[in-house]
Amino acid sequence: MIDKIKQLLDYQAVDYESEKVEKAVINCEERRAAVQMKKKIEAIMENRKKLIAMLEKLKNELASVEAKCTELSAQTAQCQKEIQNDGEDIDKVENDLKRLRRITDATAELGEQIKQIIIRSQKADKMLSEQTANANAARDQYQACKQKYDERLKQEMPAIEAAKARRAEAAKNVDPELLKKYNALRANKQVPTARLQGSTCTGCNMMLPSAIVSRVAAEKEIVECENCSRILYI
Ligand SMILES: [Zn+2]
Repeated sequence: MIDKIKQLLDYQAVDYESEKVEKAVINCEERRAAVQMKKKIEAIMENRKKLIAMLEKLKNELASVEAKCTELSAQTAQCQKEIQNDGEDIDKVENDLKRLRRITDATAELGEQIKQIIIRSQKADKMLSEQTANANAARDQYQACKQKYDERLKQEMPAIEAAKARRAEAAKNVDPELLKKYNALRANKQVPTARLQGSTCTGCNMMLPSAIVSRVAAEKEIVECENCSRILYI
């Protein structure tokens, strides 16, 4: 095997071993619980935002209905004045009374609307209080989870640092250009190297042309799989 490849495979082993140590902390129960609690808080805050917007909208609706009520009560006063002025004119008074009835009906309708808006506002207000209490409780729980995770992290930190150091040390033995290629492939979440089995790349299971197979077999240069770009070795 080419030295460069051998060094790379040694590095790869250390790299994956180090990752295992790091992932153990990332995937630990304490961190997962903290992340979950954080998501819960975000969902509650999103709900609160919606409720606050709804309350604002209801407040505006109420103001608009109340303005209409004021307008109707002015019309009522005007109509009553006209009834007095029209005195003996029965036709006119009858018309005035009809108008007055319409205004009264409209006022009653607005009164019903106001009642409904108030009921909806009270409901939203109650929900908002509940969500606020939920958010506070979730925050306390998050703090507890976070503290546990921090403790765990502190405990694991020496192991993580040691793994990092091992990785950095191992990287020194790898050809820089090759390491760059390796890291680019690694970033794509795939094992960056693949053994050639016969003429098949064991990384992507594609049969490779004999020219490539011969170049890998010659072990004089770094050859990549033309399909998955993995660094090939035999
Ligand atoms: Zn391949």
